[in-house]
Amino acid sequence: MAIERTFSIVKPDAVAKNLIGAIYQRFEAAGLKIVAAKMVHLSREQAEGFYAEHSERPFFKALVDFMTSGPVMVQVLEGEDAVRRNREIMGATNPADALAGTLRADYADSIDENAVHGSDAAASAAREIAYFFSDEEICPRTR
Ligand code: ADP
Ligand code: MG
Repeated sequence: MAIERTFSIVKPDAVAKNLIGAIYQRFEAAGLKIVAAKMVHLSREQAEGFYAEHSERPFFKALVDFMTSGPVMVQVLEGEDAVRRNREIMGATNPADALAGTLRADYADSIDENAVHGSDAAASAAREIAYFFSDEEICPRTR
């Protein structure tokens, strides 16, 4: 399995609960390397564009309200099978369905406020990384 990159967000609920470090610890403990990161407070336009695939869903406005309710951390994670492994670390979308020991089981309160985002496939990872980071902002690891 080749080294790949995925895109991740620590959502406003988890930032508000001071969980940035705890969540980064899970990524690093799993061998995923943080190769780009920044804190941003999303505008409505940014959040709507990021979640455009969900624009017709009934929860879209609530999702945009939530994602713009406070700052988030956005990061690029690099490692073997990074897309799939990050989804595994995150757990199911609804924390009620998430396996014990996953981020959403441990840190999320509801399907609306579920602590983290992670790309669901290589193609969405590439699109989402480019949505937030220029090539110059990504720091490949040489050691
Ligand atoms: P995931 O974040 O696990 O990839 P989706 O891409 O399906 O999940 O949905 C994006 C986000 O929209 C979810 O993380 C969640 O915050 C919100 N969401 C999804 N489905 C629902 C729902 N049925 N009710 C409320 N919010 C939802
Ligand atoms: Mg998704």
